[in-house]
Amino acid sequence: MWTGCFVGARNRGRAATVSIGGETGRCDRFDSEFGVKPVTATSTTCYRIAKCLRLRLAPFPDLTSAGYVSCTLNRSVVEPLRVEHACRSERRNRDGIGILGLNFSINGNCTACMACVRVCPVEAISVTHDEVTIVGDSCIECGLCVPACFHEAIDVQGELDRCRAAIAADRAALILPTEAIVYFYPATPEQLINACFAAGFDRIYFETVGDELVAGEYLSLWRDNTRRSWLRSTSPIVVNYCRSKLPELLPFLAPVVTPAVALGRYVRQLEASDFEIVYAGVGAPGVNGDQTSIDICISFDELETLLEEANAAPLGQPEAMTRMPPDRHRHLSVAGGLPVAMLEEQKQSSLRFKKERGLDALPAVARAVIGDESALGFVDVLPFDGNLGHPGMGPVEDLFWRKDIAALAEPSRSNHPMVEHVQMDLNMRYNPRHDVIADVDQEEVRRILEKIGTTPEGKHWNTGSCGHSTCVEFAMAVARGRSTLALCPIYLARQFEQASKDALHDGLTGVFTYRVLDERLAEELSRSSRTGTSLGLLFIDLDHFKPVNDNYGHGVGNQILRGVAEVLEDATRSTDIVCRYGGDEFVIVLVNPDRQAADRIADQIRTDVKALRVPVPGGDVGVTLSIGVAYHSGVTGTKMTSEELMAEADAALYVAKAQGGNTVHPIVGGELVR
Ligand code: SF4
Ligand code: SF4
Repeated sequence: MWTGCFVGARNRGRAATVSIGGETGRCDRFDSEFGVKPVTATSTTCYRIAKCLRLRLAPFPDLTSAGYVSCTLNRSVVEPLRVEHACRSERRNRDGIGILGLNFSINGNCTACMACVRVCPVEAISVTHDEVTIVGDSCIECGLCVPACFHEAIDVQGELDRCRAAIAADRAALILPTEAIVYFYPATPEQLINACFAAGFDRIYFETVGDELVAGEYLSLWRDNTRRSWLRSTSPIVVNYCRSKLPELLPFLAPVVTPAVALGRYVRQLEASDFEIVYAGVGAPGVNGDQTSIDICISFDELETLLEEANAAPLGQPEAMTRMPPDRHRHLSVAGGLPVAMLEEQKQSSLRFKKERGLDALPAVARAVIGDESALGFVDVLPFDGNLGHPGMGPVEDLFWRKDIAALAEPSRSNHPMVEHVQMDLNMRYNPRHDVIADVDQEEVRRILEKIGTTPEGKHWNTGSCGHSTCVEFAMAVARGRSTLALCPIYLARQFEQASKDALHDGLTGVFTYRVLDERLAEELSRSSRTGTSLGLLFIDLDHFKPVNDNYGHGVGNQILRGVAEVLEDATRSTDIVCRYGGDEFVIVLVNPDRQAADRIADQIRTDVKALRVPVPGGDVGVTLSIGVAYHSGVTGTKMTSEELMAEADAALYVAKAQGGNTVHPIVGGELVR
C-alpha cells in the first residue's frame, strides 16, 4: 500500500512555480515538459523535478519509494489512484493454451505508475482497482515494457527448471541466436559454445542454419513475379502484432516459419525423438501455437545462471573448440533469414522492396494493402532494428556497438549450401488471436466515452494520463476489462462535480436540499443584519398529500411534488432559495423582499398550486397548500438566528393549517395573528 503525492504548478509559462508535498520551488523545465494537461509522472520524473527544484527529498519518502504523481497544471489537483497491489506472477499454462516463449510478469515492486501501459503496443497490461497484471495470452513479448519500468517490477522468465531436467537427462539440444554472442561478449563464440557443452547441453546449433532454411523459401516467393504484397514474417513480434491488432494483414504475411522454428524442425529430424529442444533468447522464437519444433524457452539471463551453476562461465573456457558443433557458415542468407540474392537485387533499385522498422508502420501498410489495394511487393518489416535492437538486449543507444560485435562474429560465406537434401515443411498458416481481437462491445465503448465526456470544443480529451494515448483506446481497454475508469482524471473530476451537485440538489424535484438551506439561511441572515436588507421565509406544507399517495400511488404523488417545485421556482427570482425541506414540505428564502411582496408571492404560489392538475385514470387530481410567512426587516443591528426565523414561520404555518389549509398566514411585526 502506498500513497501518492501531489505536484501542482502555478504561473503558466516556461518557468513554473512547483510545489511537491507542500514545499515550493521554481522549475525552468517543468511547464515546457508537461504542458498544461493532467499528467502522471513516475518517481524518476518526480525525483528529477525535485532535483531541478533543489528540494530536499528526505521529507518526501513517496518520491523515492512510491513515486506516483498525478497533477494538473493551472487546474484543480486530481486525487491519484490508490492501488493496493496484488500483482500476479503466475506461469502460463504452456500445455493448456499452447504459449511458446518467455513469460513477462509483474512483481511486487510495481507502483502502478503506468509507464508500461503507455508503451505496450497490444494493450496486454491490465490495470484494475487493485492490481496491475500482464495478460499472458495477449503479450507479444516485444519487451518494450521492461526498460519503461523504472521500478524493476517486470520479470522475464523461461522454463528454467524444465531445462535443468532435460540437461540432467542428457537430452537437451540448444539453439542459440546470433544475439547470444553479443550478450556474452567479451567471451568469444568458441568460449560460449564450450561453456554450453560444459553445462551439459548435448547438442548446440546456431540459428544461422534456420536463416539458411527460410532464405530458400523467401527466394521462391521473391522469384514468383506476381504483382502482390508480401510481409516479412521472420519476427514473431510482427506476426503476433498482426494476429492481435491487424488480422486483415494475415493473408499478406509470408507463409514461412521463423528461422528458429525452421531450425527446431530441422533438429527434430536429425536427433532422437526424445531430445528436448531448448531455445535461449530475448523473446519468443516462433508464433504462439507452434509447439512442434521447440520445447523449452529460456532467457539469456537464465542461460547465464545455468552456466554459473555448472561452474562454466564462458570467459573461463578455452578459446579453442573442445567439441565441434555443426558447421556454421552462410550460403544463401543474411542474419535474420532474408536471401542475399533478393537483397542484392533490391539494392539495384527494385521497386518491389520496401523496408519498415517499428510496429507503428504496420497500420499504414495495412491501409495501403487493404484500403488502396496497392501491390507493395516485399515489405521487410521488423519491430526494431533487427533482433539486436530488442529492448531485452540493452539500451538502443548501444545498438551500434552490438552491431559491431555481431559483425565480427558473422560466419564466413561459402559457395556450398549449408543444409543439403532436406525435405521439410516450412510453411506456416496464421490465425487471428481471438483472445485479443475478441469483439469489443461498441455500444459499451460509446457509453464509456460518454461518461468521460469531451472538451468544450467537442473533442476527446486524449490527455494520456490514463496510460493510453487516446480516449477511444482507453475506452476499449475498459470495455475489455483491461483498465478502469478510476484511472481517468477527467472522469473523476466529472464524478466529483456530479457528486457535489447531487449533494446540493434534491433528486426528485431538482430544488435545493435541506443542507443548502441550512448553510444559506445563516449566511443570508448575517448579511441581512450587516447590510440592513430584509429577508422573507415561507414555510410550505401540502394539504392532505398522504391520501393522494395512498389513492393514486407514488408515481402521481411524485408528479405533484415536481409540479409544485416548478411553481415555486417560477414564482421566485434566481437570487431566492427554494428548498425541499423533506417529504411534502418546502421552504423558500426570499432575499430582500418588502413585506407586501413576501405576502404577495406566498399568495401567488397558493393560487398557482391550487390550479395545478395531474392526470389520473378517469380524470385528474390536484392539491392545495398552506404557507407560514416570517419576515426579518433587517434593520441594522437587529439580529435573528435561523432557528428563530424558522420557528416563526413554522408557527404561522401551524395556524394556516388549523384554519383548514389552502391558506397563507403571516407573522406581522414578530407577532402571530390568530
Ligand atoms: S510494472 Fe508498469 S505500472 Fe508497475 S511500476 Fe513498472 S512501469 Fe509502473
Ligand atoms: S512484453 Fe510487450 S506486449 Fe508484453 S506486456 Fe510488455 S510491452 Fe506489452
